[in-house]
Amino acid sequence: MRSFVCKCGNSLYFDSTQCVKCRTESGLCPNCRTVSPMLRQKPDGLRCGQEGCGVLVHRCANFAEIGCNRMVNCDDSVHGLMCDYCALTAIIPDLSVKGNCDKWKVLEQAKRRVLYILDLLGLPFRADAVHEIPSVSFEFKADAGVPVHTGHEDGVITINIREADDVEREIARVSFHEPQRTLVGHFRHELGHYFWDRLVQGHREEECREIFGDERNPDYSDAMTRYYETGPLPAWRENFISAYATMHPWEDFAETFGAYLDMVTVLDTGRHYGLVACDFCDIDSMVATYQQLGIVANELNRDMGLVDLVPEVFVAPIIRKMKFLHTLTTAAHGESGAPAGVLELA
Ligand SMILES: [Zn+2]
Ligand SMILES: [Zn+2]
Ligand SMILES: [Zn+2]
Ligand SMILES: [Zn+2]
Repeated sequence: MRSFVCKCGNSLYFDSTQCVKCRTESGLCPNCRTVSPMLRQKPDGLRCGQEGCGVLVHRCANFAEIGCNRMVNCDDSVHGLMCDYCALTAIIPDLSVKGNCDKWKVLEQAKRRVLYILDLLGLPFRADAVHEIPSVSFEFKADAGVPVHTGHEDGVITINIREADDVEREIARVSFHEPQRTLVGHFRHELGHYFWDRLVQGHREEECREIFGDERNPDYSDAMTRYYETGPLPAWRENFISAYATMHPWEDFAETFGAYLDMVTVLDTGRHYGLVACDFCDIDSMVATYQQLGIVANELNRDMGLVDLVPEVFVAPIIRKMKFLHTLTTAAHGESGAPAGVLELA
């Protein structure tokens, strides 16, 4: 993630709620899309201190409980007292259970990080009144009698809150032979399913089938049964971003979409800090730069005994899939009215 600047010149980071140097409050402004100093206004309001912005804002209703630093525009009565990101969570964990508040906090943190990049890209996840499309929504649920499956259905992304427990998540990662398993990764993957529904279905299905395969044959449940019986194709690396992507074209799409969002996010950070020069209009340049950066980042992580930052190898068939996702993103960016040049995608 990029960093931001306080009025005192000190750096602010994505989750900042206060400048550590001058103690000015800070937060993520929905108007200028930056983490900015939030200046106290008499009697009790806040104003975004970003040059050229200056909107009146207030803290998200979840600030005290989980430290959400996304601000609410005072003129925005649509979401009430919560920020627009928190308002998308329809079900939060039962806070009377010990430890659940911490789980909710890290889930919202990861979600905020992912949604922010979607906003910069102009990928649509909010309600569209004209086309009668509801917003994406999130449910953070615990197993209770029936097991809760992390997944996406009809615009609802469900995350089993067990995934917010580091120990549980690492056990799952090792048992499923996954090179990484993270909360941001879950959100990116499930949003991949969401964007298939919203941007591909009824719009670009044929084109997508040519690249990812026909999602109707075999159907999803047959494909899933087969996958859990026989496992992934042994030579999956020649065509797929992950073993799980071999299960069904929808999973291939979601896995590749997740990797695409990983890439865009990491490249944006790398470029912000001057580590890479990257042309965000050219997918080949993006992939090549990401792979180069990945080699260095992987070695740094190995130096510290951590899992690889970029475990994927982007062979030609995967780049072809990425290219399709990039055209979806650039088209969405063009339609979104998101400021051109934020990620230079327009
Ligand atoms: Zn400061
Ligand atoms: Zn602002
Ligand atoms: Zn919030
Ligand atoms: Zn999936």
